[in-house]
Amino acid sequence: MTDLDQPLAPDVPAAPHSASGERVATADLSDVAPPARPARRWTPRRVVATPPAYDHPHGQRIMKQVEAHGIEVERLRSARLTGMRGDTDRETYARAKNTMAIVVSPPSRRRLQPIAPSADWRFDLAEGCPAHCQYCYLAGSLSGPPVTRVYADLDDILDNLAGYAGHGTVTSRHRARRDEGTTFEASCYTDPLALEHLTGSWRRAVEHFGAWDAPVQLRWTTKFDDVDGFLGIAHHGRTRVRVSVNCLPVTTRFEGGTSRLRDRLAALRRLALDGYPVGLTIAPIMPVDGWRAAYGELISQVAAAVDGVPALDLTAELITHRFTPGSRDVLLGWYPRTGLEMDEESRSRKHGKFGAIKYVYPAPVMTELRTWFESEISARLPGCRILYWT
Ligand code: SF4
Repeated sequence: MTDLDQPLAPDVPAAPHSASGERVATADLSDVAPPARPARRWTPRRVVATPPAYDHPHGQRIMKQVEAHGIEVERLRSARLTGMRGDTDRETYARAKNTMAIVVSPPSRRRLQPIAPSADWRFDLAEGCPAHCQYCYLAGSLSGPPVTRVYADLDDILDNLAGYAGHGTVTSRHRARRDEGTTFEASCYTDPLALEHLTGSWRRAVEHFGAWDAPVQLRWTTKFDDVDGFLGIAHHGRTRVRVSVNCLPVTTRFEGGTSRLRDRLAALRRLALDGYPVGLTIAPIMPVDGWRAAYGELISQVAAAVDGVPALDLTAELITHRFTPGSRDVLLGWYPRTGLEMDEESRSRKHGKFGAIKYVYPAPVMTELRTWFESEISARLPGCRILYWT
């Protein structure tokens, strides 16, 4: 039984979504696991709705949208979802990853939390994701089977944001980022474009910020390319969409069920041409064999994608790979044949928020990676502003 009112735990990085003389284990990209399959629009096998979700206009809209895709919505009598457990962890994982629940967000979600270094505040329109990235940070955050929950109380969630404008505690206090206004991150626990065709939630959020005539910014990041529904709407430059990218050896091996890199970059171009501020979330950065050439190629592809875009506003957020003991165990349960390097011996231990241990690359590796990325980006994407490195 899965309690659909149960929120996820709070300690995750801002977005999902490394060389030195020191010996560091690198991801094994040899033929350990099959290459990740690219995305198709997600069609969940099972969609359920809890009774409180029926009372919200957006819950009704999602149900209609899901049914318009030919998917039946099962109306639950309570917030308890049964039938999720399979005979093995893999089976439970597969069932949950194929299930979408239309629910009302937990009341605790109305108290927004800062989400450093990405944004002043985070808010959620959904939790969970149908893709299969073998490093996914959600693995350390989900409690129970990874069912995707989408929120029916969207109007209340968006109305609640007004009380936080002008009270930013992260980017608003950062001299180089004050010009962004109060920032709100809406992709901490999910990938927006994996779900947008079923929910319409992020388009409504973009419209909400577009109509909100104040120094505020909506931010979200995605590994999908389904952006056409966002073109031509009144965003008024108050949404920054970032595309989460990686070098080809990482993206093709470890990011199952996401859009191909070239399609994500084409989507980035379409958004930039439509006047959106755009960005790159380069994550998780890994010192795979030949990383300089691989990430160099990625930067070349980005440069080609944004070439000639008038008044381009492009940022980069650089996030190295890390894991916790808990996320490692969950990921190895989900992806037992993964070639992803999660070797505690070759990492440095760091204490995260709430005292949790996380494993990051050693300082010399971090320095070498950071120096390389900063110099390559400034040389080859001269208009691109690096927002942070972590
Ligand atoms: Fe996790 Fe989905 Fe992002 Fe992949 S696309 S890292 S599965 S949230």
